Amino acid sequence: MPVISNHMPTAELQALDAAHHMHPFTAGGELAAKGARVITRAEGVWLTDSDGNRILDGMAGLWCVNIGYGRHELADVAARQMRELPYYNTFFQTTHVPAIALADKLAELAPGDLNNVFFAGSGSEANDTNLRMVRTYWALKGKPEKSIIISRKNAYHGSSVGSGSLGGMSGMHAQGGMPIPGIAHINQPNWWAEGGDMSPEDFGLARARELEEAIDRLGEKKVAAFIAEPIQGAGGVIVPPDSYWPEIQRICDEREILLIADEVICGFGRTGNWFGSHTVGWRPHIMTIAKGLSSGYQPIGGSIVCDEVASVIAGAEFNHGYTYSGHPVAAAVALENLRILEEEKVVDHVLDVAAPYLWEKWQTLTDHPMVGEARMVGLMGSLALTPDKAARAPFAAEAGTVGYLCRERCFANNLVMRHVGDRMIIAPPLVITPDEIDILIERAWKALDEGMAAAKEQGLFQPAPRA
Ligand SMILES: *Cc1c(COP(=O)(O)O)cnc(C)c1O
Repeated sequence: MPVISNHMPTAELQALDAAHHMHPFTAGGELAAKGARVITRAEGVWLTDSDGNRILDGMAGLWCVNIGYGRHELADVAARQMRELPYYNTFFQTTHVPAIALADKLAELAPGDLNNVFFAGSGSEANDTNLRMVRTYWALKGKPEKSIIISRKNAYHGSSVGSGSLGGMSGMHAQGGMPIPGIAHINQPNWWAEGGDMSPEDFGLARARELEEAIDRLGEKKVAAFIAEPIQGAGGVIVPPDSYWPEIQRICDEREILLIADEVICGFGRTGNWFGSHTVGWRPHIMTIAKGLSSGYQPIGGSIVCDEVASVIAGAEFNHGYTYSGHPVAAAVALENLRILEEEKVVDHVLDVAAPYLWEKWQTLTDHPMVGEARMVGLMGSLALTPDKAARAPFAAEAGTVGYLCRERCFANNLVMRHVGDRMIIAPPLVITPDEIDILIERAWKALDEGMAAAKEQGLFQPAPRA
């Protein structure tokens, strides 16, 4: 067995990868035929692959590398923590300094009385915690029948059985017996695809009122909580009409249910504020955090919980926890990441510099013949691809066929931009500069051109017949 290293030829690494490595959210056969792209190092917003290409990472890894790659401070903190205390748990009345300090910091950053943190190893785990915590809360309040959680179609809340069930991804629900019982899904506020002849404002109100209708249909005394991402990320960066969130908040104010904001993507500066619920004007009882919490340098997630829920949960033993809840190395790295975000005013950079500049340039992509709408909040943006802008028509081909062609052309042009169905999405590191944004836009335009040419060549530039 040779030593597997960055110095191996790409083809050999790809063959070894195909032989033994099972990839998440990937069709294995397709990947094996083509070979995975091997990323070897990264700095700032730039990835380097095993052939020496420099790739602009328009997705911040998986929406997580908020401070950018290559920050040695985080490596130093991790090494120091590993030498001092590499591991200890937080079960059974023990604790350690990194978990104390991180919880303390998060309580300071989070709004209102969100002062209590339950740690997890990931966003999926944190949402599993939330699922059990809200049900346990109502049970301890003498209302065990309040157990249904309302979520939204096309939401992404993670990949475990619990969090995947909370999510509303039909492709996931088709595999492995999901969703579990006790979860209801309402429609998403996706005006472009589903708004028909309604104005965006009316459509936003109508979609928000589905929450009210669902609570009435299920019975308020049976509903424990509503969970939502402030801006749906993996669902395609669906930015709701302006009327949506105020109406959701009105309904929530009138009903006795708990609100869970899944801030895994929106948190830690992505939307131009520390948390996305601030940006959309929503006051949750629990926030799910992960990803940008450590900028992806270590796997860590958690739930930030309001005083009322935390005090009720503290009234009994909550039989729940993960071996790595509050892992000292992950917690220390997250804390250092938050220090950098704060001291270098990265969130201000998003709000004042990067987001306005990217939005100015991003909108120009609607001049492209295949781009129907461009949306953006902070540094998360999307483009709707269409063969007929005026009709907001989807393609006749299966959703995602043309999006995939465009994603391939992005990769070929050394830009990481993802597709969700036929929406192209970006979420670059928060430290991206105007010069880098210019490069991103230039490459995106070229990839759209090439994607459209490929679609035309394959006879795919055709609108679906109107229903
Ligand atoms: C990624 C994501 C999750 C799941 O986080 P993992 O760390 O992958 O388990 C949950 N919610 C949202 C909104 C996400 O984007």
